[in-house]
Amino acid sequence: MNALLLDGKKLASDSEIDIKNQVESLVKSGIYPTLATILVGSDPASETYVKMKRNTCARVGMKSIAVELSGSTTTEELIKQIDILNNDRNVHGILLQHPVPDQIDERACFNKIAINKDVDGVTCLGFGNMAMGLDAYGSCTPAGIIRLIESYNIDIEGLNAVVVGRSPILGKPMAMMLLNKNATVTICHSRTKNIESIIKNADLIVGAVGIPKFIKKNWIKENSIVIDAGYHPEKCGDIDLEGIEKIASAFTPVPGGVGPMTINTLILQTLQSALKSAKD
Ligand code: NAP
Repeated sequence: MNALLLDGKKLASDSEIDIKNQVESLVKSGIYPTLATILVGSDPASETYVKMKRNTCARVGMKSIAVELSGSTTTEELIKQIDILNNDRNVHGILLQHPVPDQIDERACFNKIAINKDVDGVTCLGFGNMAMGLDAYGSCTPAGIIRLIESYNIDIEGLNAVVVGRSPILGKPMAMMLLNKNATVTICHSRTKNIESIIKNADLIVGAVGIPKFIKKNWIKENSIVIDAGYHPEKCGDIDLEGIEKIASAFTPVPGGVGPMTINTLILQTLQSALKSAKD
């Protein structure tokens, strides 16, 4: 049996058409959906990610404002910039590209983003609301993963889900989102003992470790759902996916699985914020 390939590239591209149409209607009604991106320093990977996000805005007809700050920016200076964007009625979403240089208190800066503009789902308040099942913009990678799984009508309820990784932007919110969907969730991290045996019991596994092919093929249970959030320069993820179609019931390819869903979710949530502002 060949596993179902969860095609994030296709879902993101289909979703872009829908977003573009909605952006067009909003613009006609006088609201120009706008995402502000903040880049601090000149890390090449971060520059590329911000560029990809701005290019996606352009493709769907959204406006993007690029704030570029020097690598020596202080926490106070960054907070000032965030405040300016918080108070700008024409800005619907704020993206602070992670990671920021070491001298900056990243958590303090994330938390300064106004909750109604936290379209990247990075504030503690947004996380708390999401975890409580209240209205909130989810962290984009895990929220994109949930959208991808559900677009194939895969029922998460009751599954034994194992999330490997507990970062604030990925593993932790992923675990909460799966819990909210009534999965039974285990979170593994760098201090977890017997990780292999935990993964071997998973009906659904999410690899969010940041180590190429960390999760081995022979740890994966037959017919499980395999989600690989990792992406490395050698074009592989955090799971050894070679031959996975003969083991899993469904899997995300790398590239073309989780990756495209992250930016698409950011753009979708910016649109949702603009739609809300139109009602206010
Ligand atoms: P991160 O902040 O470095 O977190 C990695 C997590 O993995 C940590 O919780 C860490 O545990 C855990 N870990 C590290 N070594 C481990 C080990 N030997 N055994 C078990 N757990 C271990 O990374 P991240 O930002 O969450 O990203 C994870 C992966 O997702 C990366 O490959 C990244 O490229 C990818 N990613 C993709 C997208 C996308 O758009 N597709 C977006 C974001 C990230 P501790 O907490 O104990 O240190």
